Amino acid sequence: MRRDVKSAGLGTRALWGGEDVSQVQGATQVPIVQSVSFGYDDLDEWQAVALGKASGHIYSRNTNPTVAVFEEKVRLLEGAAVAISAASGMAAISATLFSLLRPGDRVVSVKDTYGGTNELFRKFLPAIHIDVCLCDTTDPEQIATEIRRGCRMVYLETPTNPTLKVIDIEATALVAHSVGAIVVTDNTFATPINQRPLELGSDLVLHSASKFLGGHADALGGVVCGQKEIIREIYHYREITGAALDPFAAYLLLRGMKTLEIRIARQNAGALKIAEYLQGHPAVARVFYPGLPSHPQHEIAKRQMPGGFGGMLSFVLHGDYEAVRAFLPRLKFAHRAANLGTVETVVGPPATTSHVECSAEDRAAMGIPEALIRYSTGIENLTDLIADLEQALAYVSGLGGARG
Ligand code: PLP
Repeated sequence: MRRDVKSAGLGTRALWGGEDVSQVQGATQVPIVQSVSFGYDDLDEWQAVALGKASGHIYSRNTNPTVAVFEEKVRLLEGAAVAISAASGMAAISATLFSLLRPGDRVVSVKDTYGGTNELFRKFLPAIHIDVCLCDTTDPEQIATEIRRGCRMVYLETPTNPTLKVIDIEATALVAHSVGAIVVTDNTFATPINQRPLELGSDLVLHSASKFLGGHADALGGVVCGQKEIIREIYHYREITGAALDPFAAYLLLRGMKTLEIRIARQNAGALKIAEYLQGHPAVARVFYPGLPSHPQHEIAKRQMPGGFGGMLSFVLHGDYEAVRAFLPRLKFAHRAANLGTVETVVGPPATTSHVECSAEDRAAMGIPEALIRYSTGIENLTDLIADLEQALAYVSGLGGARG
């Protein structure tokens, strides 16, 4: 049966979107089609599929039935014309940048992008003579001025990793389009439940699906959505460079995405309460969360994140890295790991997670304190998470970390 889920709620889209494939013997779940190639007895049909004149699959580095359902589900959630997947978030980001940019082009972005993306901007793109201008994330005037100087692409990530800065997508896209630039937004932290970049004027939206979309820390994946002509370029680059999403990973991501809406609602609610709790704690010097009225871009976040402010927050302990070293092992209900967006709470300092590639000086220049802790709120019971933080903070306070 063909279901029109385009106008359905996001929770319904997460469940039913893309699932209209014919299933083996009426199976209700999308099968893992673990086949590299697809055979045709009829040469004309084979050629028609190969040339894209008929639907079907040829080779799983190009397309695959399980992967196609994942792409369709994300496409429907983001309200895009087309979506294509990649082996990881970084594969999706690399394919987007390297397929659309040419030597001599200029990109305007911000200093606070994810560490891997930042590395592409500071090392790999300049190596092929692409000029990258990284603006102060919280300075919309500077961003607009640099865009008006001319650029081929404006690359945004909001909220940012790990200090949760917020960029006004709509206002930035208006300036970008006035100079003919294409706008790309990394929506990994917000998810399509909370923020809808295409509706705000972004031309492309991309994700590390390894995070909130999949939600269970058991599969890597990436996806980029947007208009057909642009996605075709990115797809071609990805199929030739080969970083295709594996069908088994696609299956796990699909299964995770079925609960996307309820997970995100619970993570939004939990993160807000935890941010409020931490803000009032004497052992905590500062809390970064766009849902707090004290957050410098709270008004923008309220406007552009109608679904909620997300499950990610970060906070700074009084003291230095030693306070972090004492605090983190005390948490009982958190993985200390380089990941985020999963059903279990995950914590880590930028020095071992998002900005491991950077030196302490680089992190300081980006405004990332060494005593910062990135906190990805899981779906545990909130009372347990707060009690867990309470006992760990009491411990570091006892060591002399609290300043009152
Ligand atoms: N974008 C953001 C905002 C991220 O946090 C990450 C990884 O942490 C990535 C992209 C890269 O994704 P992946 O690890 O799936 O390559």
